[in-house]
Amino acid sequence: MQLRVAQIVPDTEAEGPGKRFALWVQGCTLHCPGCCNPEMFAPDKGGTLVEVADLASRMSATPGIEGISVLGGEPFQQPEALAELCALVRASGLSVMIYTGYTLSELKEMSPSPRGGKGKPGIADLLANTDLLVDGRYDRTRPEAGRRRWIGSSNQVMHFLTPRYAPTDPRFTTPNTIELRFVNGQLTINGWPQAADAMRKP
Ligand code: SF4
Repeated sequence: MQLRVAQIVPDTEAEGPGKRFALWVQGCTLHCPGCCNPEMFAPDKGGTLVEVADLASRMSATPGIEGISVLGGEPFQQPEALAELCALVRASGLSVMIYTGYTLSELKEMSPSPRGGKGKPGIADLLANTDLLVDGRYDRTRPEAGRRRWIGSSNQVMHFLTPRYAPTDPRFTTPNTIELRFVNGQLTINGWPQAADAMRKP
């Protein structure tokens, strides 16, 4: 199975607890105003198709990371490939954190019911292989202003879907982290959507 990938940062400390392998997927139809990654909107242009098994092997072999973070683009618009990826990396002991523009209740409504029926395959499997979920559209009019770590706007909620993490972990209450990198000659910002949004405004 293949996944369309927009960007990879194999060792960030700005996109979740601990050192993480961050993966930005290509394609998002939600188009939140102020999104810091509009170049990742097109679902069939841009990015690179990669084999899930190869990517999982690379992630699992990355030294010193405690997990992966999946951002976008919209992860739940490629749910089957990502569910397979996340199951493989969790089996190797890594944790999975996902940032989605959908709310958790929307995702549950989009899943097929256990008795069959309409729905998008893979969503329930992807949720079942997610330890931490940050949900909801990015709303530039409601900036989080750094009070909660790793959250872009105040409407977004962090869901602890497994016992792997707990809100009492001190890493969840320390101030937000920002990372500046040069990627292909361009300055990129990890960990602070408002700063990336402000950089894009004329
Ligand atoms: S913030 Fe997330 S959900 Fe919103 S448009 Fe950007 S990638 Fe899509």
